[in-house]
Amino acid sequence: MDSKIFHELEHSYHENKLAHAFLLETNEKEKTYKEILQFLKLINCPNSFKENCSTCNLCHLIDTNSLPSLITIYPDGINIKKEQILELKKSFQTKPIFSKYNMYIIMDAEKLNASSANTMLKFLEEPEDHIIGFFLTNNRENVIETIKSRCQILLENYEEIEDHIPEDIWTLALDYIMEIETAKTDAVLYNRDVLSLKIKEKNDCFFLFQAMLNIYRNVYFGILNIENLDERFQFLSFLLKKDSKDIFKKICLIVEILDELNYNLNISLALDRFVLEVGD
Ligand SMILES: [Zn+2]
Repeated sequence: MDSKIFHELEHSYHENKLAHAFLLETNEKEKTYKEILQFLKLINCPNSFKENCSTCNLCHLIDTNSLPSLITIYPDGINIKKEQILELKKSFQTKPIFSKYNMYIIMDAEKLNASSANTMLKFLEEPEDHIIGFFLTNNRENVIETIKSRCQILLENYEEIEDHIPEDIWTLALDYIMEIETAKTDAVLYNRDVLSLKIKEKNDCFFLFQAMLNIYRNVYFGILNIENLDERFQFLSFLLKKDSKDIFKKICLIVEILDELNYNLNISLALDRFVLEVGD
């Protein structure tokens, strides 16, 4: 976990300053949801929690969404309804049996209307030590004030990986694709003579394939921003548009390679695998 929200929660937990309710504004709700689950494992796990504890029963129940003391509420139709909150309150009348906390997660907190938010207020105004709640939204401005004012607010904005790819790797990726698409030289030799001299760190290899993925995807979906393209890129998009099935195959292959790079595939195997399978 390298997200801001997770670290802030973890920090306040260790400082013993955990709030009873959090409003989390995030640009990727599902990702943040998973991080909340990790955090709930951290504060409930009876063993000393290791990241991704899967050995204890409690963490397993959280992972499989089958812990009675953890309730996630999604909007029912266009709103989160009062009845849903009443039911939550009923479930949390007693102290939890297996876990330290009774926990609730409200997805799309902006869908709480005046009546469901009012029903919610008891949790927020008379907080009990064993209850903790999370409200997720992609825009806190749309969350009703009575909720917002009673929560600790945390913000998360996951950046796109593309923003981190260095400029020279983009150039390298474009050169590489040009080589492959025009087949001027033997691609295996190109890997050995050109790429292996420039891509020495696994991270760079990861960026290289990310950049290639981005280029192929943009070509495939026809979302090239023409204004910013140099002539070479235009030639490339012209070339690639000729065979969309072939591009799609390359996209799938790159996704697979990126996945394997996360495990144990080394740089030269990744590069060779790409050119060999592209050749088929
Ligand atoms: Zn555990």
